[in-house]
Amino acid sequence: MSALELRDVVVDYDRRGGGSVRAVAGASLVVERGRIVGLVGESGCGKSTLARAAVGLVPVAEGSVEFEGTAVTPLSRRARPEHLVRLQLVFQNPYSSLNPRRTAGSQIADGLKGTRAARAVRVRELCEVVGLPGTVTSRYPHEFSGGQRQRIAIARALASSPSVIVLDEPLASLDASAQAQLANLLANLARDLEVGLLLISHDLAIVRHVADEVSVMYLGKMAETGPTLPLWTKPAHPYSEALIAAVPRPDGAGFLPESLPGEVPDPAHPPAGCRFHPRCPYVFERCRVEEPRLEPLPNDRFAACWLAGSKGLG
Ligand code: SF4
Repeated sequence: MSALELRDVVVDYDRRGGGSVRAVAGASLVVERGRIVGLVGESGCGKSTLARAAVGLVPVAEGSVEFEGTAVTPLSRRARPEHLVRLQLVFQNPYSSLNPRRTAGSQIADGLKGTRAARAVRVRELCEVVGLPGTVTSRYPHEFSGGQRQRIAIARALASSPSVIVLDEPLASLDASAQAQLANLLANLARDLEVGLLLISHDLAIVRHVADEVSVMYLGKMAETGPTLPLWTKPAHPYSEALIAAVPRPDGAGFLPESLPGEVPDPAHPPAGCRFHPRCPYVFERCRVEEPRLEPLPNDRFAACWLAGSKGLG
């Protein structure tokens, strides 16, 4: 049984002015305890919507989301059933997710049980786990830097002894040095506490540095998934290839570009055939009429491209 498993998830949004948009059009992924799965793709590809579906913050129109073998049903966070407390979400902006009028310690303690004294001890331990001195507990969110606030948000998530934490662009609002430190912290948490992490990020450097596996999402579907290093070294899908090639540094580190050549199609009207075909340099006739499915390749890799099997990835 996997810790978190999403199967063929479809998420529709109502559009202002009428009609609906299929933000996620059948996406699957699995997060095991102790593993980091990076989810990458251009803005608007559906990765944040998929993250919200993973923790029950948006309803799933089709497909399934299971956490430790039990269905994740859409509920407000206050009403989360007991077993879903071990499935946590950390948002991009810790300042908006922390209450400015409550001390860091009291917010971390929200997820703890036991006597007041025992909770105070545990809060100090959790601060130390995330690299903050135990003495910070009486301070308010505005007294911390962005990186420290994100550490508090992570400590608060850890208070529930999670099996999985979904992190939606957790490093995006931080400076480069805070990003690097937090990325190392995430890698340590996964390894030392056996927490599974689903890391949504537009920062390819961080994903490549910490993720065990990567899922590349395009227009609501997975274009490619697989172990990080092989995917980076020899991408099977032309979209992954374009993302990695567009990164300015030769070692493959750096941010996703604002946009790749070609327009991102409207998710309400995806192209026929392969969704990437209007932007693909390798497009041929079949791509325009038949949609490739995500098919297995050697070494635990999968890609949705008619040419992937001919790339000699074995
Ligand atoms: Fe390009 Fe065709 Fe592969 Fe789509 S199926 S990514 S259009 S080669």
